[in-house]
Amino acid sequence: EAKAKGRNTFHFYSQELNAAANERLFIENELRIGLKEKQFVVYYQPQVDSRTHQVVGYEALLRWFHPTEGAIPPDKFIPIAEATGLIVELGEWVLQESCDFAVRLAEQGLENNISINLSARQFKDSSLVTTLSKMIIKSGVSAKRLHLELTESMLMGNVEAAITQLHELKALGISISIDDFGTGYSSLSYLKRFPVDILKIDRSFVKDIPEDTNDMEITAAIIAMAQKLKLDVVAEGVETIEQMQFLQNNNCFIVQGYYFSKPIAEHELPNLYERLNELANSEVTS
Ligand code: C2E
Ligand code: MG
Ligand code: MG
Ligand code: MG
Repeated sequence: EAKAKGRNTFHFYSQELNAAANERLFIENELRIGLKEKQFVVYYQPQVDSRTHQVVGYEALLRWFHPTEGAIPPDKFIPIAEATGLIVELGEWVLQESCDFAVRLAEQGLENNISINLSARQFKDSSLVTTLSKMIIKSGVSAKRLHLELTESMLMGNVEAAITQLHELKALGISISIDDFGTGYSSLSYLKRFPVDILKIDRSFVKDIPEDTNDMEITAAIIAMAQKLKLDVVAEGVETIEQMQFLQNNNCFIVQGYYFSKPIAEHELPNLYERLNELANSEVTS
């Protein structure tokens, strides 16, 4: 029942409190073991140019396959990894995997971008730039292929420190995306001060298109604003052809969502290419 109420609900029963605390402790312990025993896998969700059906990039999304609990979703373990500091080690591993993946793609002639989610703790870490710089050299990845996804709240705390960190990351040749854009509370005047490259429109605005006219107005406004600020824009959570077409009509062409593909393991890439071909054909004939 605690699950159904969501993690932001307060529980007034000590029994529930205990259960929640126990689950946290359990996950914290299992995270350490899971890291050692390689229970984690990085999945990749394509970002597709809806005009050509070409993959332009992938978002790296962490998956945890626990030996007895099965798949544990990121929303359940990332906050605990963040609170305990384990996210730094886990996040570094995701960065390393993503660099290696980008290199394997490049070896096949595929110039795809890889977007990696950074946690607040990783972003604040003063060693992030050095770690990344070493990783880039060691893996041989082209830094311009790497996109780091941050959220608005991560930038709004200490604005000056955030701007400095962003400049140092960008000096490595990396691009910066604002994830879940529109759900935080960054003011537009601040947005201009941050050296960011891409806005990702949050899924919550996309999911009720074309029924919710408010969401359609907001989505169109975000796209128009991104264009004015000369930022690229990616739409998240695109599940239907209607949503894709609405975005196209409003000049947002790079989309990510179940319409094209769920996050997949690397070995599933051939199936993805096949599906994208089929979709291209069916959209033409429909
Ligand atoms: P996010 O970065 O906003 O990632 C997008 C989430 O939306 C992913 O959930 C993805 O599977 C899901 N999604 C994509 N397209 C659709 C769609 O069409 N419909 C629906 N219903 N969902 C869609 P996921 O993989 O469960 O990840 C949840 C969150 O966990 C991510 O949100 C991100 O904040 C965090 N996360 C995942 N991997 C990492 C990581 O390696 N490091 C950090 N720090 N956070 C991560
Ligand atoms: Mg993301
Ligand atoms: Mg997102
Ligand atoms: Mg999200």
